[in-house]
Amino acid sequence: MKVVKFGGSSLATGQQVNKVINIIQADSDRQVVVTSAPGKRFDKDIKVTDLLIQYATQVQQGADFQATVTAISQRYQEISDYFQLPDDTLTLINKKLAALATTKFADDEHLLAAFKAHGELLNAILIAAVLNHQGIPAKFVDPRVAGILVTGHPNDADVLSSTYANLAQIKPHNARLVFPGFFGYTPDGDIYTFARGGSDITGSILSRGMNADLYENFTDVDAIYAANNHVVDHPAIIQKMSYREMRELSYAGFSVFQDEAIIPAVQGQIPVNVKNTNNPSAPGTLIVPSQFVFNPATPITGIASSRRFSALYLHRYLLNKEVGFTLKLLQIFKRYNISYDHMPTGIDDLTVIFDRSKLDNATIKALCNDVHKTLDPDYLEWIDDYAIIMVVGEGIAHNIDTISKVIDALTQNNIAIHMINQGASQISIMLGVQSKDADNAVRYIYQTFFQPSEVTNS
Ligand code: ASP
Repeated sequence: MKVVKFGGSSLATGQQVNKVINIIQADSDRQVVVTSAPGKRFDKDIKVTDLLIQYATQVQQGADFQATVTAISQRYQEISDYFQLPDDTLTLINKKLAALATTKFADDEHLLAAFKAHGELLNAILIAAVLNHQGIPAKFVDPRVAGILVTGHPNDADVLSSTYANLAQIKPHNARLVFPGFFGYTPDGDIYTFARGGSDITGSILSRGMNADLYENFTDVDAIYAANNHVVDHPAIIQKMSYREMRELSYAGFSVFQDEAIIPAVQGQIPVNVKNTNNPSAPGTLIVPSQFVFNPATPITGIASSRRFSALYLHRYLLNKEVGFTLKLLQIFKRYNISYDHMPTGIDDLTVIFDRSKLDNATIKALCNDVHKTLDPDYLEWIDDYAIIMVVGEGIAHNIDTISKVIDALTQNNIAIHMINQGASQISIMLGVQSKDADNAVRYIYQTFFQPSEVTNS
């Protein structure tokens, strides 16, 4: 059995949904279908999830939301019209959409989560109806009924392990099962969504819980590339990669597959195949356990970069001899409920790297003041102009010269390296550079390991 998940662009229009129907029909093993909300139809378009966030904000502020509801409804209507569905499905969708405005929620966070989740919920209802209409028996499955249980934050949920036992109970049906992605229910019955892009997580959870042979993740690119194709011209396609390579690359900026989505698939040892809805015969990228991937001839699988990080730099003479310095620092982070991503240290220096998207300016200011007062460093700097380059490959640990080649690629092109971290993960080298240098850093490293003659500088 295969779990097939379709991203927002694959479900953005009737024409796209038609491709999805053909893909499902082409393989009788594609029994479990996971939907995203309709995504962008063109560059400047707004995703249904973002329209729902707008709807939620308008309801919270007591503003007029009618135009937003109409815009959301039209997205489903367009797909329904394409297949000439009878009216009842759209009537149901419109009813559920309108009911949101008068439903009571515990607080604004719960309200936002429930509104957002409706993008996928309504789409799963619609896609199940389209499949049936096209002669492919299908059944919409409510995550509450299936037992997809979550905890944590309403808009950044974690799956509860009891979910897997619940999903294992689902018996094979004589119909395709259509699940909405992106959300689950708390044991109290509240809707919590995963982080943005989280329909990938649902697909991964279902693959593990239902013990799929393969998790196919359909998106809008032929495969995952070794570098961002907006940065490097015609980057190489990654045919096969390991789970941990995917995890490191998606964490550091590869957006094809959601950052945390790989984890349930790894736990269940389910292979993942990223494929293109617009070109389904292309083999895509296969993501598998490490032992099936390592090739000593190619130490590097991919190079990612991300500007979503900031760094706190502290300098203090004899820091290495001082007992409890880092402990006090970590206690400050705990007080502010802040998690950090990396903490490379030197004898007198320490850099802490944070995910900037999780911090606001007021928190940063208060945090820096607190660090100053409590630790009295000789020098403290908050560095917003920070980018991380992640060079990833199962072969790194087996090739002693990889790091020197990476450093040469940058220094020979006058790119200053502010931080290097290798060793914590045996399969990646992380570098900190100034934001302005990030794209060129990727290009030069790519040139060194992939195709020396084809670098285009910006
Ligand atoms: N629709 C949600 C989002 O836009 C989840 C997803 O597409 O995976 O983030």
